[in-house]
Amino acid sequence: TGIEELLLSRIRDVADYPEPGVMFKDITPLLADPAAFTALTDALAAIAASTGATKVVGLEARGFILGAPVAVRAGLGFIPVRKAGKLPGATLSQAYDLEYGSAEIEVHAEDLSADDRILIVDDVLATGGTAEASIELIRRAGAEVAGLAVLMELGFLSGRARLEPALQGAPLEAL
Ligand code: 5GP
Repeated sequence: TGIEELLLSRIRDVADYPEPGVMFKDITPLLADPAAFTALTDALAAIAASTGATKVVGLEARGFILGAPVAVRAGLGFIPVRKAGKLPGATLSQAYDLEYGSAEIEVHAEDLSADDRILIVDDVLATGGTAEASIELIRRAGAEVAGLAVLMELGFLSGRARLEPALQGAPLEAL
């Protein structure tokens, strides 16, 4: 479709970043193009509406850039899921494994309630580890996961299959 071509045309492949053998998908050309950024925001906001989300969670850091305008466009609140140690209030934390070592993400516990249906937004779904941890975090906070929406899914890393059990039937939309 037109939007897929527009978005793809604004994503730059960077070889050997952040380490040799990795082809990094750089979204900064898309962010710098108002037509593409607006089209992306509108498409993600339509997903937020279709899932009946009550709030948008963005995953640090590019999920903040995409998720915040989606929340505004959809008329919803925005909640940041941050790397450990960045949020000043009472947090819930979730650790997860990386290829080498582990990472931890956090959310302000008071931002999520049992009435909330959360659309998680990020730029790229790779192995699915970050998204899986965020789903776990949202459920532990007592909220429901309405879905996961990303700009791009790297299909060869099989993140979708990994996330299937965690999503419990909630949609995974990749533009
Ligand atoms: P995962 O946990 O699915 O393996 O990795 C996804 C996370 O790493 C996302 O938060 C995403 O921003 C980042 N990421 C992994 N690979 C890429 C990439 O090629 N391009 C961009 N922009 N982000 C990536």
